Amino acid sequence: MAERLWIRAGTLVTPRQSYEDITVVLHDGLVEDLIPGGRIASTPGEEVIDARRWIVGPGFVDLHVHGGGGHDTMDGTREAVDGLAAFHARHGTTSLLPSTIAAPAEHIHAALAAVSESMERPNTGARVLGAHVEGPFLSPEKRGAHVGRFVRPPDREADRWLWEHLPIIRRITLAPELPGALELIRELRGRGVLVSLGHTMADEELVQRAVLAGASHVTHLFNAMSALEKVGPLRRLGLAEAGLVHDGLSVEVIADGWHVPLSLLKLIVRAKGVERTALVTDAMRAAGLPEGRYNLGGEEAMAVTVRGGMAVTGEGGLAGSIAGMDQMVRNAVRALALPLPEVWRMASLTPAEILGLAGRLGEIAVGKAADLVIMDRELEVVATIVDGQPVYRREDL
Ligand SMILES: [Zn+2]
Repeated sequence: MAERLWIRAGTLVTPRQSYEDITVVLHDGLVEDLIPGGRIASTPGEEVIDARRWIVGPGFVDLHVHGGGGHDTMDGTREAVDGLAAFHARHGTTSLLPSTIAAPAEHIHAALAAVSESMERPNTGARVLGAHVEGPFLSPEKRGAHVGRFVRPPDREADRWLWEHLPIIRRITLAPELPGALELIRELRGRGVLVSLGHTMADEELVQRAVLAGASHVTHLFNAMSALEKVGPLRRLGLAEAGLVHDGLSVEVIADGWHVPLSLLKLIVRAKGVERTALVTDAMRAAGLPEGRYNLGGEEAMAVTVRGGMAVTGEGGLAGSIAGMDQMVRNAVRALALPLPEVWRMASLTPAEILGLAGRLGEIAVGKAADLVIMDRELEVVATIVDGQPVYRREDL
């Protein structure tokens, strides 16, 4: 049986509330106790972390990650998935969904097999919850950084990879206007997959049909989607506005300050609340690496130039972020002027709820997973703990 880990937190963000001077006791992968007044009752051999200068909160849950630290889910190896999970753990993420992109079936198959393998092993980074399948069922007109020749409608015969790997697919992003997409939404929702709308030209009526079929989330709101349009004398909503006004939809935002102006983040949070807005990184391979030339999703996929904090394709679009979740949280704190627990929620409890995993993840509460991040007062990561085990420590800890 593993030993206890004791953490004396200067500030504890649960994130339903924040408290001063609380001792968090972790045991056997779970939060065992929360003790006010900073009391420590460790036995010899048990580690005590003095975090009285710092903030302790639930580890971040990232619903949308392509890569980081030089790794990409589409590399199709366990090492790549482990590598990106380790990179994001250094930025406070304790659970994530590695994401695929539009690619030939055999490449997606290899990527999903790698995600499966990574899930079977003890963790050295963020916990891999399963896969997010983004593409190939996307609109050619809103494909963003996905390669045009790989984008297509669903096809039973060509999509055997989808059904074969269904047990580890937690989420799919698709365009509901494609032939067969509404049927696919119904079927996947029925099998427990989170269906997210994105890379789409859908108007409000189609969004509503997709929601009734089982779609419940919006992929990177305001990026790669239809928006308000003049039709004759009238105005027609796209997914950007329908995502804001339809209560059946939660949304995610890439809060790197480039994909969405941070002033717009304020409007999004006012419309959806912090309970229905998740921060995501949508990070790609170059996150954490120097400026230069990279690719999104492998050699035959999109070439990307990273400069000035942005990853830009040859076509002039953004190709995901190069930031960790800690940066998203710092940006949201600056942009929103909300109490810290409310911002923290958007990176922890809210995404856990969207995935239906809030019984276990997203919150520091007795009986829940011992997934924590310790941050300094500037919201830089000091340590990350997954399953009660430190997977990252800054030198000053
Ligand atoms: Zn995308």
